[in-house]
Amino acid sequence: MANAQRREVKVADLVERARDGQAHAVARLISMVEDASPQLREVTAALVPQAGHAQVIGLTGAPGVGKSTSTAALVSAYRETGHRVGVLAIDPSSPFSGGALLGDRIRMQVHATDPGVFIRSMAARGRLGGLSWAAPQALRVLDAAGYGVVLIETVGVGQSEVDVVSLADSTLVLVAPGMGDGIQAAKAGILEVADVFVVNKADREGAERTARELRYMISLGRREHSGPSWRPPVVRTIADKGQGITEVIEAIGAHRDWMATCGELERRRTDRARSEVEAIALQALRERLGQLRGDALAAVAERVVAGELDSYAAADVLIAQLQAGH
Ligand code: GDP
Repeated sequence: MANAQRREVKVADLVERARDGQAHAVARLISMVEDASPQLREVTAALVPQAGHAQVIGLTGAPGVGKSTSTAALVSAYRETGHRVGVLAIDPSSPFSGGALLGDRIRMQVHATDPGVFIRSMAARGRLGGLSWAAPQALRVLDAAGYGVVLIETVGVGQSEVDVVSLADSTLVLVAPGMGDGIQAAKAGILEVADVFVVNKADREGAERTARELRYMISLGRREHSGPSWRPPVVRTIADKGQGITEVIEAIGAHRDWMATCGELERRRTDRARSEVEAIALQALRERLGQLRGDALAAVAERVVAGELDSYAAADVLIAQLQAGH
């Protein structure tokens, strides 16, 4: 009991310090998420009442298209308007977390010493339940800590594995001219997920054509929303020169206003909470199943092998045992 009380104080203290803008406390809380700390429940309970204010922006697109350059440019622009900015860089291919990867990312280094910017990488590989479970919680840490804007970017290869879209309020899909992106876009179904299209590398030949192709495809596409529909704007940028970034921010703002008026923001956030709760529940069930395992699962498995039970009936037996609290 005394122990539990001590821990409670510590979590409350950490949350307090995170809200105070202390990067170290924010980092500690995210590490607790990543390590699936036994105190996570307590941390989440402390954070939930403080969260829900951040504008969450996802960036997705093929490797090399300019996501990290654009992220850095967006961070600068949002800083200029006085926002504190959090960046979560999600690497689906790496088992390493905690900034090792970001150390190499020169573009971000201009922000590394800014106390109003918090940058963190998260690895997705090898994580039970993938990022569906950890990423929303890391996001909540940043949100509750008062980062008014949180950018989520995928880094590395295999980006399609990570559904940044499901985490974000607004999703930017980046394409670049000359990469056959228009066609790739249609294939990957990103027309449906893009809230704003960014044609980056607009200094290169073919940018206008790429933008035109995208606009044409958008005009053909059907989006399945109730209420007034949103037609994703196509913005051209030269991210490494900071050009077009203001227009991107305006487009994000317009999207946010649209979402707020038609209830889409609420719907997206409910979806997000729904998948987070589902992931937590599934994990808890898996753990409870694991606790049964030694006897119960082996026992029914043997009966399946012996031909006494079919595997569905065996699963029913296990579920009944879970329900009975064995
Ligand atoms: P990511 O893999 O999507 O994160 O792409 P990066 O941000 O790492 O950018 C890939 C390369 O494109 C880098 O060498 C950037 O300097 C370059 N780059 C980014 N934006 C632009 C741009 O607007 N124009 C040009 N010409 N190059 C750019």
